[in-house]
Amino acid sequence: MTNTVIKTTKTSLMAVIAYAIGALVLFTVPVSDPNPATAAAEARVELDRNSIVRALLWMRTSGEYEALCRQTFNVALEQVRNEMKAKKQRKPAAVIMDLDETVLDNSGYSFFLLRNRLKHHETHWHNWNREHPEQVSLVPGARQFIKAVENEGVRIVFVSNRSNALRDTTRKILLRLDLATEAELADPTAMKLLLRQDTSNKQSRRDTIAARYDVIALLGDNLNDFADAFRSPAVNSIEDRRAAVRSHAEKWGAHWFVLPNPIYGYWTRYIDWQKTEQYFERPNR
Ligand SMILES: [Mg+2]
Repeated sequence: MTNTVIKTTKTSLMAVIAYAIGALVLFTVPVSDPNPATAAAEARVELDRNSIVRALLWMRTSGEYEALCRQTFNVALEQVRNEMKAKKQRKPAAVIMDLDETVLDNSGYSFFLLRNRLKHHETHWHNWNREHPEQVSLVPGARQFIKAVENEGVRIVFVSNRSNALRDTTRKILLRLDLATEAELADPTAMKLLLRQDTSNKQSRRDTIAARYDVIALLGDNLNDFADAFRSPAVNSIEDRRAAVRSHAEKWGAHWFVLPNPIYGYWTRYIDWQKTEQYFERPNR
C-alpha cells in the first residue's frame, strides 16, 4: 500500500488531475450491470468519489482557496493586533488554533485514500502520518500568521483531535514546518500542543487554556473548534448547526475565524448520503 503513495507534491497534483479525468470518464461510461439497484448504488459511489476529487482539486489548485485562507488569517491578525492594542487582558494572551486543515494541509491523505479506494479509518490515518509525514504541508498563510501573532507577544496553542498515539509524529511535523520549538514541545507546562485524550470534545481543553490565558481568538475548520454550543445534544441536525452559527453571528471574523474545508468534517455527519437530492432545493437563507 505504501509504495503507491506519491512522493512529491508536483507528481501528486498531476496524479490527482489524471485521477479526476479517469473518474469523470468512468462516470460517463454507461453502467452495464443489469441490476438497476446495483447500478444506481455504483453510480452513487462514483458520484461521491467525483465530488471528493473536485473538492480536492479546489484545495490543491485554486487561487480562491489560497485567497480564502489568507483572507481569514489577515482578518484574524488584525483582530489580534486590535486586542493587544486595547490592553484589556488580565492574563497573558493566547490564540487557540486547530491543526488539521487549519494549520496543516493533509490533502495528501485524501489522495492516498482515493488512489487506494479506501474509506477514512483511524488506522489508515495513523499509518499515513507515520509513513509519510513529509507529505503534510501548510495551509496557505498559516505560518506567517503564527509568526506575526507571536511577534505581538501572544502565545499560540494548538488544540487538535489528533490522538496521543500521533504525538511524536505530530511533534516532528510541527518542528519541520517551523511552527513550534523543541523547548515548547518538550515542556508539558508550556501548553503548546493539546491532543485528544479521552474525548473529541475540545471544551475541557479550552477551559484549561482559559484558566491561564486570555484567549483572544480561535481558528478552526470545524464548528467543534470554537464552542460546545455546536455539539450534540444541543446540535443534532443540519438546521441545528446552521442555527447555532446564526445565533453567534457577531463572533465570526471578530473572535472566531474559520478556514475552508470541503473534504471532511462534522458537517458530513448530518447528511443522508442515500438521499442527497433532498438538499437540492433552494436554501432558505
Ligand atoms: Mg481541523
